[in-house]
Amino acid sequence: MANATIIDGKAIAAKLSRKIAKKIDRLQDSCNLTPNLAVVLVGEDPASQIYVRNKNKQVEEVGMTSSQHDLPADIGEEELLILIRGLNKDPNVHGILVQLPLPVHIDTNKVIGAVNPAKDVDGFHVLNAGALMTGQTDALVPCTPLGCLMLIKEHIKDLGGSKAVVVGRSNIVGKPMAQLLLRENCTVTMAHSRTRELADECRQADILVGAVGRPELIRGDWIKPGATVIDVGINRIQAADGKKLVGDVAFDEALAVAGAITPVPGGVGPMTIACMLSNTLKAACQQNDVDVPEL
Ligand code: NAD
Repeated sequence: MANATIIDGKAIAAKLSRKIAKKIDRLQDSCNLTPNLAVVLVGEDPASQIYVRNKNKQVEEVGMTSSQHDLPADIGEEELLILIRGLNKDPNVHGILVQLPLPVHIDTNKVIGAVNPAKDVDGFHVLNAGALMTGQTDALVPCTPLGCLMLIKEHIKDLGGSKAVVVGRSNIVGKPMAQLLLRENCTVTMAHSRTRELADECRQADILVGAVGRPELIRGDWIKPGATVIDVGINRIQAADGKKLVGDVAFDEALAVAGAITPVPGGVGPMTIACMLSNTLKAACQQNDVDVPEL
């Protein structure tokens, strides 16, 4: 029996993108400023190529500009760093996005650390991570957890005092997600691969975020009745009727218990890209001493 509201991430992301497009239109009229994003893609990973193509398409749709820098998989680390330093200095580039994962011979942390924090639209630089942790609102926040928070707020107006459980502690999703929920006055538990009694932890959650990368790990009976469930996982599995995408939550089971849930696909994914657009707009405004528009 399906009870939960399905949170339509695709529709909410489209609404956010339309707002961004309007703000960009105004920015062009009032300040002659068009946010510009540089995308760096190393190698030919098919999934990364699809992501980047999607991002570029949406950048154009909201009226921003972008440049793409395709580099061979065997590029040296120093050569990549030289490109990033050049983009850092270019006043016409407001956002820099280095598509991950990078080939193993390149030190990812070094590359993330080389991006000017003001242009770090992924929000991965330690200065942006630190700014989020210390509650500075002008920092660039990682796009996926930012999008998750917006989806949660579509369903719960005041998060204060809610018990939130985030399963997964990566730097790009789990940790910043927990910080954002803490900033909203939630009581936050971070669970991970070494957590004992994971199901019991999850059952405490008014807000449950799965960011694990394990197909349907979170079962229906792990969910508190009425909870808001955000499924970040993207897992490709072989089903009887062919390959399909599933999240970290057993969706059909969760539908009967949760109050609201994001689907996979069509939940968190579209919000990630829309938040990348909003971060690029924010970065462009901040670099040009223009007030960041409310979205
Ligand atoms: P990651 O591999 O860096 O981190 C996974 C985390 O899950 C780790 O902290 C680990 O401790 C925890 N974990 C692993 N197995 C566990 C288990 N059995 N029980 C409890 N915790 C466990 O992954 P990530 O980059 O944070 O991504 C997580 C998932 O989200 C992946 O499926 C990824 O594809 C997806 N993702 C989606 C988007 C999007 O836009 N929708 C963006 C980023 C990541």
